[in-house]
Amino acid sequence: MIKLPEPVEDIVVNLLRLANTKLPADVGWALEAAAGWETGDIARTQLGAIMDNVKKAEHMGRPMCQDTGIPVFYVRGRFDSTIVAQISKGVERATREIPLRPNTVDPLSRENDGSNLGEGMPIIHYIPTDDDFTEITVLPKGAGSENMTRLAMLNPADGVEGVRRFIIDSVLDAGGRPCPPSIVGVGIGGTSDKCVEMAKEALLSPLDSENPDPVLAKMEEDVFVALNSSGLGPMGLGGSTTVLGVKIRKAFCHTASLPVAVNIGCWATRRASARISDEGVEYSQGVDF
Ligand code: SF4
Repeated sequence: MIKLPEPVEDIVVNLLRLANTKLPADVGWALEAAAGWETGDIARTQLGAIMDNVKKAEHMGRPMCQDTGIPVFYVRGRFDSTIVAQISKGVERATREIPLRPNTVDPLSRENDGSNLGEGMPIIHYIPTDDDFTEITVLPKGAGSENMTRLAMLNPADGVEGVRRFIIDSVLDAGGRPCPPSIVGVGIGGTSDKCVEMAKEALLSPLDSENPDPVLAKMEEDVFVALNSSGLGPMGLGGSTTVLGVKIRKAFCHTASLPVAVNIGCWATRRASARISDEGVEYSQGVDF
């Protein structure tokens, strides 16, 4: 474990504040580009309202959406088990101080203790490496988009076309519910759990990053064009901007399986990372790993 320059709890509060009040630059640029090419009044009005909201949130230091989501964390690099308690303290403090909407409840009784914690929370994915840093990333995930998550265990014979069709159908079936224009995270392969995990992780990649796999890069482009030709548009009210980007990850899978998962990020795809090293803490809003 490297010696941390400031308490992880403070860094987590900073991360949640940054993610909730400042849209990542790549998502902001994509919204602005969309406003430039949309010709319909309704689509332009929707995009204008979203961008106005984003600017006000950043200026006032307030969350850009009332649904501040469930914080999903990724911890990468060198760390030890104390990081769990420190992240939990940071979530509880951020909920009070920013403030964040207390979203977490018991799934059956629907009881809410107001802390954004509870059994199984916070959600933390661990990626240990030999790097000389600890990197904490948060992806606050709102329910409108998360509820549209889809997993299919396709027949391997369905092939590339079957995968492409499933992604497109999942986004179009979701309609306006995930607050488009969306970012479409896709996982292909692995096991069912790994597949869904990859689909969510894909939302962390900046929109201007290139997929190193040419087959996946082509699929991302094909799906992007198909979805933006669908006419669904911003907030599902019609237009040429249904998605801001498509990001796909894959893993090898069983020879008898072809899992595909779709995890949608809404226009408020919020993310923030802190890389902590001996040199200090460096914040950013998009990571590729
Ligand atoms: S889907 Fe996103 S933009 Fe829509 S209400 Fe939920 S968090 Fe907010």
